[in-house]
Amino acid sequence: MKFSEQLWFPGGVLLLCAAGVQLSVPALSAAEPFLTGFALLALAAGAVLGGMYNRSRPVASLAVIGAAAWLLPALYTADGAPHWQPQTLALLLPLNLIVFALLPDRGLFARTSLLAATPLAVQAVVLLVLPRGANPWMEGQLAYAPMPSGWFQWSWVGEPALVAFGAAAILLAGIFLWRRRPTDRGLFWLLVAAFAGVHGLHDPRLAMLYFGSGALIVSVSLVEHAHAMAYVDALTGLASRRALDEFLPQLHGRFALAMVDVDHFKRFNDAYGHAAGDQVLRKVAGQLETVGGGGRVFRYGGEEFSVVFAGRSRKDALPHLEALRARIEATGFSLRGSLRPTQKPAERRALPRAGRHVHLTVSIGVAELSEKLASPRLVIEAADKALYRAKQSGRNRVQAA
Ligand code: GH3
Ligand code: MG
Ligand code: MG
Repeated sequence: MKFSEQLWFPGGVLLLCAAGVQLSVPALSAAEPFLTGFALLALAAGAVLGGMYNRSRPVASLAVIGAAAWLLPALYTADGAPHWQPQTLALLLPLNLIVFALLPDRGLFARTSLLAATPLAVQAVVLLVLPRGANPWMEGQLAYAPMPSGWFQWSWVGEPALVAFGAAAILLAGIFLWRRRPTDRGLFWLLVAAFAGVHGLHDPRLAMLYFGSGALIVSVSLVEHAHAMAYVDALTGLASRRALDEFLPQLHGRFALAMVDVDHFKRFNDAYGHAAGDQVLRKVAGQLETVGGGGRVFRYGGEEFSVVFAGRSRKDALPHLEALRARIEATGFSLRGSLRPTQKPAERRALPRAGRHVHLTVSIGVAELSEKLASPRLVIEAADKALYRAKQSGRNRVQAA
């Protein structure tokens, strides 16, 4: 699995650092004067980035963590009594994150986002309006404890809130593992940070440290999001053309570059529909990544891909490319869902009948950096020319420049 798709990075690492600060007495004392500023800056950075990329979910989650960071330490009393106000906040925190995770993110000013803001405002008003002081009924509800007594004695938080935290953790981790988006992972770690913050209330420094870390994690995830928009191709998950443009000049010494183009892909789209075409492009991308020989795959654009073999010659790359071509020809691809041909029935008759299992081939042109082809641009042009010749001589073949 790709590094960027792992759950533990970078939120897990940042939280470990925060835990390190908590455990080291000198580090915590040294950090103390900066903790409030740190939390405020992290929240502000997250809000600005969330606004720039028009993401409602991180911004709403930051609003909740910000409210928790300033309200909880004020409401918490360290005598361990199950006061209803901090208990309610500890329950609302994961519940809100669950709701945000389930609502679609259609941008900051979409109707769903404004709808999500309403319950937040209601919660704030209710918390402010309800009379302060003891409230035995609410406290009884929030201290509802069906689990064997003693299991959760380490936590001042009632079992309903602990269950909500657990459910939110499973949901947020599941959403990330399903979609592998940095902002989803950021929200999972925000929840973990919030959990740590809720349990650090006996020391206001710890609350700020963890709530601030949660906000920092969300901000970092928004930067990751921006990076992915620029450097990762959204359809295939491969590195993008921009990534290729920046990668090639960084290479020292020789390299071989192959241009791979799907054969007769326009016909394929016409026969099976654009959605099926997209599905196949994703599968072709998956096949390309098995190339071996140290080849790195990029989506150059459309149905064209580039494979770069750093430190290798054209001759080194050829057997890997030939094996790749043969694998794609032999494997075929299964299509899911309904196939909607876009072509008129009269024209479709000349094409293969729409089936669930389809075969495709690719043509490949390969060139290497040399005295004659002394720049990345010249190498790409030469690989393109070789690709053109592969097409001219019948397709489904590898052609060296
Ligand atoms: P050749 O063998 O000569 O390469 O023929 P071709 O039909 O593959 O080449 P051409 O360049 O004429 O057409 C490429 C087609 O690829 C056109 C476009 O419909 C399709 N295509 C490009 N990008 C995408 C995409 O992201 N999704 C889908 N479904 N189709 C795409
Ligand atoms: Mg093409
Ligand atoms: Mg093509």
